[in-house]
Amino acid sequence: MILYNTLGQKKMDFVPHSGKKVNMYTCGPTVYHFAHIGNLRTYIMEDVLEKYLRYAGYDVTRVMNITDVGHLTSDADTGDDKMVEGAKREHKTVMEIAKYYTDAFFEDCKKLNIKTPDVVEPATNCIDDFIKMVSKLMDDGYAYFAGGNVYFDTSKLDNYYVFGNMNADDLEVGVRDDVDSDENKRNKTDFVLWFTKSKFEDQALKWDSPWGVGYPGWHIECSSISIKHLGEHLDIHCGGVDNAFPHHTNEIAQSEAYLGHKWCNYWFHVLHLNDARGKMSKSKGEFLTVSLLEEKGYNPLVYRMFCLQSHYRKPLTFSYDSLDNTAKAYDKLIKRIASLKDDGEVDEAAAEALDAKFREALDNDLNTSLGLTAVYDVLKADTNDATKKFVIAEFDKVLGLDLVSEKSDDEDSLDAEIEALIAKRQEARANKDWATADLIRDELAARNIKLIDTPDGIKWEKTE
Ligand code: AMP
Ligand code: ZN
Repeated sequence: MILYNTLGQKKMDFVPHSGKKVNMYTCGPTVYHFAHIGNLRTYIMEDVLEKYLRYAGYDVTRVMNITDVGHLTSDADTGDDKMVEGAKREHKTVMEIAKYYTDAFFEDCKKLNIKTPDVVEPATNCIDDFIKMVSKLMDDGYAYFAGGNVYFDTSKLDNYYVFGNMNADDLEVGVRDDVDSDENKRNKTDFVLWFTKSKFEDQALKWDSPWGVGYPGWHIECSSISIKHLGEHLDIHCGGVDNAFPHHTNEIAQSEAYLGHKWCNYWFHVLHLNDARGKMSKSKGEFLTVSLLEEKGYNPLVYRMFCLQSHYRKPLTFSYDSLDNTAKAYDKLIKRIASLKDDGEVDEAAAEALDAKFREALDNDLNTSLGLTAVYDVLKADTNDATKKFVIAEFDKVLGLDLVSEKSDDEDSLDAEIEALIAKRQEARANKDWATADLIRDELAARNIKLIDTPDGIKWEKTE
């Protein structure tokens, strides 16, 4: 498989450190608010990457942190603590906020068919590990104590800017709020490993440490949690592109200083989802969530397909018009696949040839839009329906779009009956035959069927 690697800024052959074993780390959500669909674009593409690596025969272990402490409103060391901000906004404790939004995040993931990583670790579970790592960095001369905080000394490194000439806009994201410069820092790029003399009098979560009562910086979380669960060699580290600097740059600095060798070989960054105002962000007030899309009648998997239609390394602009087009394409595709018959044996040679095209697309830097094209190619292929159904079900292990219905024939025929009733009701309404329309409405209600008006016509769901 070929992947674009931010470390080196080019496409490279993906070669894990130990044969077929892949250690994969993902920066998890900061759980002070709902995830917006921009955050979820990143998690969807990371999910496809993980699933494709498994599909290609790798044995993946994936770890994700939950950021429930230490992430300030600027990605650098300034601003307020996002968790404290969330707690104030909702008059709850930080831990209540963390629990609520962690659960909400995994609910969204479930709706989007995003698999839960093998290990999910909240930062607040690992304070001792952070302290251990910071202590070693202090002992080895990579960190210093100043004005009550512990800082990483970036002047000790030969090359701090490991990602090279990152695009100026991305660099901007990392330092955008860095206005009140911190006089304790020896170098502008130094960053906090442990805060004690915080400017937040009311910092809710504090722990004892060799440097006084305080709390960890954000970057140390990911280095420490990754090394704790995945060891000294990480194969691939993922995140949204705004994480590349300063977060991932700082992770590399402290991890390699701590380990004394190269840490992670591949860096996978997903470009942003934008809306008409620019990058979608939680701090801009109103933002789009999966629940909001559902309220508007969209199946969350339509949003997953919307993401798969474009390449992860291109910015993606969200609009309802584009989502509507995807919704139509999704419905059509599902119907076409549902009409495939169980007409005998799978033709293995044909299946293999179709699968090769799918792999070719994903092997080339995870080209998901060509991966979707491969599904349409299957439908057009000169082979029997059973083979088509089998191959599409295989692809769907990666695409995660519920392309092949797992319903039994009985359930399928029940669905068809309900759809026929809805169509009859629409016809009656068009003919102003209100009595028949009402009768059908009552019958549907008695069967616990709720009708939903959507831009693509009437949809229904069972409400038991
Ligand atoms: P956060 O919850 O803010 O820590 O962000 C969670 C993930 O979403 C990180 O990997 C971010 O890089 C990513 N992210 C933030 N904003 C966007 C966006 N507009 N589009 C895509 N990914 C994003
Ligand atoms: Zn991280």
